[in-house]
Amino acid sequence: MKVLEERIRQEGLILSESVLKVDSFLNHQVDTGLALQIGREFKEVFGHLPVTKILTVEASGIQFAMAAGIAFSVPFIYAKKKKAVTLSEDVYSAPVYSFTRQESYQISISQKYLGPEDRVLIVDDFLATGAALVGLADIVGQSGAQLLGVGCVIEKSFQEGRSLLEKRGINVHALARISSMAPGEVHFIANEEKMRESAGC
Ligand code: 5GP
Repeated sequence: MKVLEERIRQEGLILSESVLKVDSFLNHQVDTGLALQIGREFKEVFGHLPVTKILTVEASGIQFAMAAGIAFSVPFIYAKKKKAVTLSEDVYSAPVYSFTRQESYQISISQKYLGPEDRVLIVDDFLATGAALVGLADIVGQSGAQLLGVGCVIEKSFQEGRSLLEKRGINVHALARISSMAPGEVHFIANEEKMRESAGC
């Protein structure tokens, strides 16, 4: 997604060879127009599939899951990282190790909102080690719902997340795929659309 790549180039802060800060427009202050555009882009990519629910994990996946939910006209659910006292009913849960926080936590959702009749698209801001998305995929498995795909806004392709998901047979699509980065420079993998354009198809 060209506009997203441009924003990453202009505003992304590369803190190290593996950590990208995009909190001026994606996951702290949020550019709402861009978030809605991202939702529509997920609809372009996965719109041929019969999605009934969008699933993400709090906090930084929420704005994109909501945007995708609007584009698909379906509800979105976000997994909680701490079990709230209000979450008193039965839950599906999975452990996740956080790359950015370097600690493990449990994610959970109420069993009321996901079941065998659902067909799920998982959405998140980053695909890095894949731990969060594997946790979400586990939750879908526990519910008996069908997982149709995973859409993430930014993939750091030099980390193992994509291969971990693909090994599980999960269909993954990222809107911006970073092949490498270093302070002051970021390189993207051309997506199929761009390759088709340059091939004149
Ligand atoms: P995972 O390693 O499980 O794929 O990434 C889990 C979460 O860590 C992502 O959803 C994202 O919130 C956060 N994360 C991973 N890598 C980065 C990064 O380079 N920058 C930022 N801002 N967050 C990241």
